[in-house]
Amino acid sequence: MRLSQYFLPLLKETPSEAQIASHRLMLRAGMIRQTAAGIYTWLPLGFRVLQKVEQIVREEQDAAGAQELLMPTLQPAELWRESGRYEDYGEEMLRLKDRHKREMLYGPTNEELITEIFRQAVRSYRDLPKNLYHIQWKFRDEVRPRFGVMRGREFLMKDNYSFDIDKAASLVSYFRMFKAYMKTFKRMGLTPIPVRAATGPIGGDLSHEFHVQADTGESQLYFDSEIEKLDEDKLDPASPTVQDELLKWYAATDEKHDPAAFARVPEARRREARGIEVGQLFYFGTKYSAPMKATVAGPKGDTVAVEMGSYGIGVSRLVGAIIEASHDDDGIIWPESVAPFHVGLVNLRPSDKECAEAGEQLYQRLMKSGIDTLYDEREESPGAKFAAMDLVGLPWQVVVGPRGLKQGVVEVKERKTGVKQELSLDAAVARLVGLR
Ligand code: ATP
Ligand code: MG
Repeated sequence: MRLSQYFLPLLKETPSEAQIASHRLMLRAGMIRQTAAGIYTWLPLGFRVLQKVEQIVREEQDAAGAQELLMPTLQPAELWRESGRYEDYGEEMLRLKDRHKREMLYGPTNEELITEIFRQAVRSYRDLPKNLYHIQWKFRDEVRPRFGVMRGREFLMKDNYSFDIDKAASLVSYFRMFKAYMKTFKRMGLTPIPVRAATGPIGGDLSHEFHVQADTGESQLYFDSEIEKLDEDKLDPASPTVQDELLKWYAATDEKHDPAAFARVPEARRREARGIEVGQLFYFGTKYSAPMKATVAGPKGDTVAVEMGSYGIGVSRLVGAIIEASHDDDGIIWPESVAPFHVGLVNLRPSDKECAEAGEQLYQRLMKSGIDTLYDEREESPGAKFAAMDLVGLPWQVVVGPRGLKQGVVEVKERKTGVKQELSLDAAVARLVGLR
C-alpha cells in the first residue's frame, strides 16, 4: 500500500475526549472514528487489525472443535420471553419494533437464539457434543460507554455455545475453551490472567474471566503471580481434576475475592492489579435448555435437558487491550501477529531519482515476498515521516535516504527495541523475509 493513496487520516493533536492511551492512539493513528457515543467506524488501518484479531480467534476456535455459523444481529423478543430474560435485561437491551409492530431486539448475546437453533435440530444424545460459534456485532446500551472500543455500545464479539449430555461432559467442553482462550490471547502477544469470576446476567455457577493487565483496566484482580506462567498445554480438559489443578494458584476478580485464601499466597507472589476483561467462560447447565425445552433422548430413552456453557471473547475490545499492553510515548508497537502491515518503508526523498528507484525496488520485492508493506513515498519532512511510522507502530521500518544509498545501504529499524541496522538492499529484503 502506498501511503499517498491510503485512507489514513492521522491526527497530530491528542483528541480531548480520549482518556486512555489506546483510545488516543487509535484516533491519532487513523484506526477508528466515533460515529455516535460508543459506536465506531473502523477505518482501513484499524479494520486490518480487527480482522487479524478475528482470524486468530477463529483459528483457535476451529482447532478446539467449535464450528462457525452466523446468527443475525436482530432477534425476536419472544425467544427472550421464554428464558425470562426479556424483562431482566433492562435498559442495556436495545429494543425495537418492525413495521408489523413485532417486538425485536439487537442481540446483546445469543444464548436464547442458539438454544432455539439447537432444539429444532438435535434429538438424540448421539448427536452430542456440539459446540457452535459466531463472530458478530453485539449491542449493549451501556450507561457509560468510554475508552473508545474498550467499552462500546456496539462491539464485535466471538461467542460460542456448547451442548453436552451431562455435567461431566459439559465441563470437558468448558476446559477445552479455557485452553483455546489461553492460546488465543498468547498468539496476540498478551499474557492472559485467567481468574475465577461471578456469572452476572448470563447465570450459572462456574466462570472464568481472562484479563490483560493494565492500569486503566476496569476490573480489580487478585492473583498469585505463578498463574502468569500457566502452560495450557499441560492442562487436560478431560481430566476430572482439571478444576482443582487450576485452583492451585489463587486468581479472582473482586466479586469472587477471598481475602483469607489470598493471604495464604506467599507474599512475594501476591498481586493486586487492574485488568481489562477480554474473555469469559460460563458453565450454566440447564439454565436455558430447561425453560426452552432443549432436550434430547438420553441413552436409556429418557428425556434430558442438555447441559450448556457459553464463551465470549471481546474481539473489538482486544484491539484496544493489545495497544494498552504494547505502546510507548511515540505510538503503538504492534505484535507481529496482529500488525496491520509488517513493514513501513520510508522514502526520505521521493523526488530524488536514486531514492525513488531504490524505494520502488524494495517495495516491489517485499510485496512479491508476501510481506505487507506500507510505503511512505509522500513529499513530507523526514521528521513527520518518522513520527507517523512510530505512531502507526508497524513492527519493522526500512528507511531509504540519499546518504545511505551512496554507501549502498538502507536502515532497518525494529519498532519494539528501536535497534537500527544498516543493510544492503539485498540483505534488508533477506532479513525481513527471513523474519516472517
Ligand atoms: P464487562 O464486565 O466488561 O461489561 P461483560 O462481562 O458484561 O463485560 P460478557 O458478557 O462476558 O461481558 O461478554 C464477553 C466479552 O465481550 C467480554 O469479556 C468483553 O471482552 C467483551 N465486551 C463486553 N462488553 C463490551 C463492551 N461494552 N464493549 C466492548 N467489548 C465488550
Ligand atoms: Mg464478562
